[in-house]
Amino acid sequence: MKTHVKALVVGGGAVGTSIAYHLAKAGWDDVVLLERDELTSGSTWHAAGLLPLFNMSFATTHIHKYSVDFYKSLEEETGLNAGFAVVGNLRMAQTDARMDEYMLYASTAETCDVPFEWLTPDEIKARWPLIRTEDLKGALYHNTDGYINPADVTMAMAKGARQHGAVIERKWQVDAYHWNGDAWEVTCTKMVEKGGNLVPSDEQVVVTAEHVVTATGNHAQRTARQLGIKMPAIPVEHQFIVMEQDPALVEFRKEHGEHPVIRDADAQSYVREERGGWILGIYEKEAPARFEHGVPDSFRADLFPLALDRIEEQYMAMIHRIPSCEESGLKDDFNGPICYTPDGNPLVGPAPGLRNMWLAEGFSFGITAAGGTGYYLAQMMVNGEAEIDMASLDPKRFGSWITTEYGARKNEECYDHVYVLHHPDEERPACRPLRTAPSYERMKAAGAQFGCVNGWERPNYFAPEGFSDYDARSFKRGGWWQYAVEEAKAIREGVGMIDATAFTKHRVKGPGATAFLDWFTCNKLPRVGRINLTYALTEAGTTRTEYTIVREAEDEYYLVSSGALTDYDGDFLRKAAADKAGEFGYIEVQNVTTQYGVFAIAGPKSRDVLKKIIIDADPETALSNKRFPWLSAQKIELGMCPVDAIRVAYTGELGWELHHPIEMQNYLFDLIMAAGEEHGLKLVGARAQNWLRQEKSYRAFGTELGRDATPLEADLPRFVNMDKEYQGKAAMLDLGVRSKCVTFLIDGPEGADPWGREALYDGDKRVGRLTSGGYSVAFEKSIGMGYVPPELSEVGTKLKVRMFRELWDAVVVEDSPYDPKNASIRVDG
Ligand SMILES: Cc1cc2nc3c(=O)[nH]c(=O)nc-3n(C[C@H](O)[C@H](O)[C@H](O)COP(=O)(O)OP(=O)(O)OC[C@H]3O[C@@H](n4cnc5c(N)ncnc54)[C@H](O)[C@@H]3O)c2cc1C
Repeated sequence: MKTHVKALVVGGGAVGTSIAYHLAKAGWDDVVLLERDELTSGSTWHAAGLLPLFNMSFATTHIHKYSVDFYKSLEEETGLNAGFAVVGNLRMAQTDARMDEYMLYASTAETCDVPFEWLTPDEIKARWPLIRTEDLKGALYHNTDGYINPADVTMAMAKGARQHGAVIERKWQVDAYHWNGDAWEVTCTKMVEKGGNLVPSDEQVVVTAEHVVTATGNHAQRTARQLGIKMPAIPVEHQFIVMEQDPALVEFRKEHGEHPVIRDADAQSYVREERGGWILGIYEKEAPARFEHGVPDSFRADLFPLALDRIEEQYMAMIHRIPSCEESGLKDDFNGPICYTPDGNPLVGPAPGLRNMWLAEGFSFGITAAGGTGYYLAQMMVNGEAEIDMASLDPKRFGSWITTEYGARKNEECYDHVYVLHHPDEERPACRPLRTAPSYERMKAAGAQFGCVNGWERPNYFAPEGFSDYDARSFKRGGWWQYAVEEAKAIREGVGMIDATAFTKHRVKGPGATAFLDWFTCNKLPRVGRINLTYALTEAGTTRTEYTIVREAEDEYYLVSSGALTDYDGDFLRKAAADKAGEFGYIEVQNVTTQYGVFAIAGPKSRDVLKKIIIDADPETALSNKRFPWLSAQKIELGMCPVDAIRVAYTGELGWELHHPIEMQNYLFDLIMAAGEEHGLKLVGARAQNWLRQEKSYRAFGTELGRDATPLEADLPRFVNMDKEYQGKAAMLDLGVRSKCVTFLIDGPEGADPWGREALYDGDKRVGRLTSGGYSVAFEKSIGMGYVPPELSEVGTKLKVRMFRELWDAVVVEDSPYDPKNASIRVDG
């Protein structure tokens, strides 16, 4: 056993093996993989091996696509046949809404170069007559995916890893991790067989590793405890059954190739051919989470008993769909642990708070994702960044507030939601409400329909009593649309108030703070009392985080960033500050997110409302341009509430963000609502705000802004200072401007707006994609933002956007098409 390595990969399932392969292939010497038992002895051995390309997420679709292409090449490289049956994947729809879902998904597939075709029920019947089609609306067919033998593909990757120089050691369990300041000292125990159990021996070795990757599958909770971190990777039971031969299938196969994998999403199941019979896999309701507190020693390559009662309905649905299988008996069954996370995406990337510790945990489609995960994670480890934005998989997207109970219940929900309709306006109910601002009950009483951001309850829109958000969901304009229109108009014409409490807030101060932030962010730092919008870049020159920075004193700053990613932002900031303290002096970083509530009041009448409640020697002028200019911050008093007010509005109207002590939120809420009554103040939700910011071309973090584009590509040169040095500057300039962010006005289909995933066309050539979409109350039509090649970014360029399988007119408009001169924001009074 090597005792000094560059990278130690822990876990020899499909995922760990692929990571070892890709690290070694990328040129890292001394890559060692440790497996406590045998390779594939975790969930990998009992997977059904399906490789579905279908996925709603841009990053995950890239990962799956890489895997499918990579697995096809493995045999040539290693000489091992991984049993990849490229049989295609037929995803059927029983309802129009399901077809709408596929059409939205097809946008993601299209923008990731995943091939697919549409089939009518008659076309399905003509190709695969065993399928009952009269109750189908159609299907989406992928002809390039299929299924693979999970053990064989893992062994092929293991062989490839060894060929590239990696070493694989079996029967070694990692039991402890210690960071010595430069490297990880990893205590490993030799495992031995004893009476059919795998038990630790007395033999231990400490391996010193520059980098560690954990890919421990169902053991993720043990790994989390060893590392002192939290990970919501907890398995759920997942079952599939294998049926005896179906004579009709055997007959069909005499003249035809293998049947494609059939996904009957409305029946929560998938079916694939296996030796003349069928395998039925189910995503049923009430499958329980397992191993919340760790995997028992006695559980090795074991299974749970089949829970037939839970899957009866899906079994009957299969007989309905493939009537010929009615007589086939049950041959075998599998009920194994399948790891989940609350949002269904795995945890891939740097571990919170730790150096050189990488996580690859929580895989529910781990066979499909293994190849791509290894590829992109190796890019992050070797090059510093992956070529795609991995933020949606980053382990720190879940905050440190999560608990075991939350992870288990959310993962059960995620499992039983695999085949629900994935409306883009979907909100899931489990574990809610959990994180609530004090004004939650007041907002609720006012009709708030809440969404969930990083666990916080945040109003999406406000509706009359009795309104059902669940019933209002749609792939087109949902039942909530009209309320969002009224709210958006209230801000443009009168006054509205938005709950922005979920914002991430950090305070950075100390003698090194100014020099540090100057190096950490790309815009000029503001003067005391002023604010700036700025970006922290990755080492690769792309956008890591967007900040509004308020300079409160010479060496004291208040940083506001996206509410969705508090720990993701905080971890990056704290690690960078710790790295630079030696150079710049002491830097204190405090996460003050939960100490402050935020109300954003905006609209032409917002000043009139605040004037009524501001305590000042001269309330009439306190909020005038002279005393409180745009892009400045002041400590003010609203009634008895001390408020850090920032004159900025993400909606692009005259307005202030009111950061207040969270314990005074209800007092402030009542005060503002009472003062606003005579001005018709309306509570406004996140959906209207999202539309309004697009009218101002304000880029949003996570859509226009991320690790796949630089701020210059986001077309934000006014926030990028070329006269100073900062992290990522040289790399940003080296990248140049590969594509450019622009705003579109869109003449789309009746009753629908884009969601921000749609492909953009120049004639019949695909040239880019939307990253945001919605409705503009100012222009009374659809609006969107997206990336196109620089030569197509000129104002007036006419492109097309694909929605519901057709191409619609989209014209590039000037940045900030609504009020381009910012007259409303700067208005005096
Ligand atoms: C019934 C069923 C059907 C499925 N079907 C599919 C499918 O069709 N397609 C698909 O993509 N996915 C499918 N899955 C999911 C898939 O099996 C998993 O996502 C995948 O196997 C996860 O791989 P992994 O490498 O992350 O974990 P695992 O395969 O569980 O590997 C983790 C390894 O880490 C080792 N380990 C843990 N702790 C330590 C330690 N401290 N030291 C050393 N070694 C350690 C374990 O022994 C284990 O071998 C299915 C799952 C189930 C249960």
